[in-house]
Amino acid sequence: MASVIPASRPRVRFAPSPTGFLHVGGARTALFNWLYAKKFDGDFLLRIEDTDRQRSTDESTRAIFEGLEWLGLTWDEDVVYQGANVQRHHADAHRLLESGAAYRDFTPAAEIERLRAEAEARGEAFRFDRALADLSDAEIAERLARHEPYAIRFRVPEGTTEWDDLVHGRIAFPNKDIEDFVILRSDGTPVYNMAVVSDDIAMGITLVMRGDDHISNTPKQILLYRALSATVPQFGHVPMIHGTDGKKLSKRHGATAVGDYQHQGLLPQAMLNFLALLGWSTGDDVEVMTLPQLIEKFRVEGLQKKAAVFDTKKLEWMNGQHLALIPIDELAALMTPLMEKAGLASADDLRARHEWFCGVLELLRVRARLLDEIVDQAKPFFTEFVEYDADAVSKQWRDAAATADILEATHDRLAAVSTWEPAAMEEALRALAEERGISGGKIFQPLRVALVGLTVSPGIFDVLQYVGRERSLARIAAAVRYLKNG
Ligand code: GLU
Repeated sequence: MASVIPASRPRVRFAPSPTGFLHVGGARTALFNWLYAKKFDGDFLLRIEDTDRQRSTDESTRAIFEGLEWLGLTWDEDVVYQGANVQRHHADAHRLLESGAAYRDFTPAAEIERLRAEAEARGEAFRFDRALADLSDAEIAERLARHEPYAIRFRVPEGTTEWDDLVHGRIAFPNKDIEDFVILRSDGTPVYNMAVVSDDIAMGITLVMRGDDHISNTPKQILLYRALSATVPQFGHVPMIHGTDGKKLSKRHGATAVGDYQHQGLLPQAMLNFLALLGWSTGDDVEVMTLPQLIEKFRVEGLQKKAAVFDTKKLEWMNGQHLALIPIDELAALMTPLMEKAGLASADDLRARHEWFCGVLELLRVRARLLDEIVDQAKPFFTEFVEYDADAVSKQWRDAAATADILEATHDRLAAVSTWEPAAMEEALRALAEERGISGGKIFQPLRVALVGLTVSPGIFDVLQYVGRERSLARIAAAVRYLKNG
């Protein structure tokens, strides 16, 4: 295996093509590169691979920036736009031509297509035959004088191309299996492998970490580095991401855009934590980690070869874990716009009762997985009246007369407590239960329906405290009226 501690300050990059949204797989690749840079005090660079003019859009570039910023994966130095470097790609291809590492191929595209179709008809894979392009210097000069278009092809040498992959260990490709690939098309545009190598050299990249769907590009790229007399960087190919059904992650499995998760109210730290565990294992049982902990624990040795599974249930669970961890003021800031949007409170109102609001959030966050769930569960603390859930009524208020009677008594006892504090309220209601010879639950369950309309809520005395004395008593009285009037 290659050394896992870099010899010099590492420079890594994330190089997305801006042809769609920021995919969770891309974000995961970015995160591994970012963690590597942080871990080893290196640089994390961003390169937008926008050479495909037809498919690249500004909107997609913006989505990439926004997604990375939301996750906090900030990059060092200015963004590199691959399209701005076409001249250098061009020049590098010509350098290879001049050194003899590459050659001109005047074969018309139609001829190549014909040969490809023929090979396929024979059931063979098409490989370009170097002999096709073997022209004398005089012939080449003649065709150049006639301005005939030509592609530049790399002359793949004999031998084997191998590298110590950071994830997979030693990988070797026999060169005889690699055709003389085009590096500059006849219209003068560089191909992907040429552009990437030219840029990675210019950017001083020391480690290329990307998805393992790129493994077959790597031998070609290594050959280009060598032919350009450049230092070959390290390579690491991280596994693909699958859905829970074992198939490549796609829209069928749910949202695959980072932005969708942002808009669903997921916490960026939960998303990062979840993404980090897609193809990397810590080696211990701890799964919930903050960003500083991720950096501290990140080890190249923990990168996995086998495909990672994207399980949205786990992501939600992870979000719940982080909801419980973040500073309460941070949660209040995240919740404020959502509360406004739901029409439950204005930002001013929440600011004016900040402590109370934080108290409510403390009660709710331990049982929620998503911010939206907190909004839902916060309703009884903000609205004047509550709606009674039909199931809750049929379960906890089955005997209307008896329930009205117990709620009336509950109302009177609570109205008489000297301080509206959980301990005092609990004492009063437990005394009532004892007098009546019933369990506490027989009082608390119907009371919960009266206060929040549901069978589940935070602890009943916490609910009473945060709903407040006046509102709580009014709700119990309303429940009694409801039960008496049928
Ligand atoms: N633009 C390529 C992609 O999005 C980058 C591959 C690489 O990292 O070299 O797959």
